[in-house]
Amino acid sequence: MKHVETGDTPRFEVRICELGHHNPPDFPRCRVCGGPLDEPVLVPNPKLGWVRSSDGQTRPLEGDIVVGRAPETGGVAGVTALETPPAILAISRQHLRIHQEGWEISVSDLGSENGTLLHRENGQIIELKSGEPYNVQPGDILELDQDYSLRFEA
Ligand SMILES: [Zn+2]
Repeated sequence: MKHVETGDTPRFEVRICELGHHNPPDFPRCRVCGGPLDEPVLVPNPKLGWVRSSDGQTRPLEGDIVVGRAPETGGVAGVTALETPPAILAISRQHLRIHQEGWEISVSDLGSENGTLLHRENGQIIELKSGEPYNVQPGDILELDQDYSLRFEA
């Protein structure tokens, strides 16, 4: 896979809590832990946390992540793959895409055969409509199969 430097130009203003969580500059308290925030500083990219799969893989929430039994990144810089266990045939080859832009993380089902359920931290359960982006937050869980899920953590 081709690697392209995206550059280290500090362009995002963030406020960091004592646990190291990054927050938008206009937030009064930490969006993750509720703690007090330092004065804003400039960084190349805000750290939004990571996604953790039920089989123990993690990926930082940076750029795009394609999830499935045979995920294709198209060799595009900033796109990473997260392979699901080959034995879980209910998961499609290209099942889901996670997209990061600035402070927003969204997920889209890529027309998977069996669909994806989004479990919100507040207990709400949403069946993703194919191709439609849904914003997600730390604590949200995506269920691709009863034996495989992804959790957003910060
Ligand atoms: Zn915090």
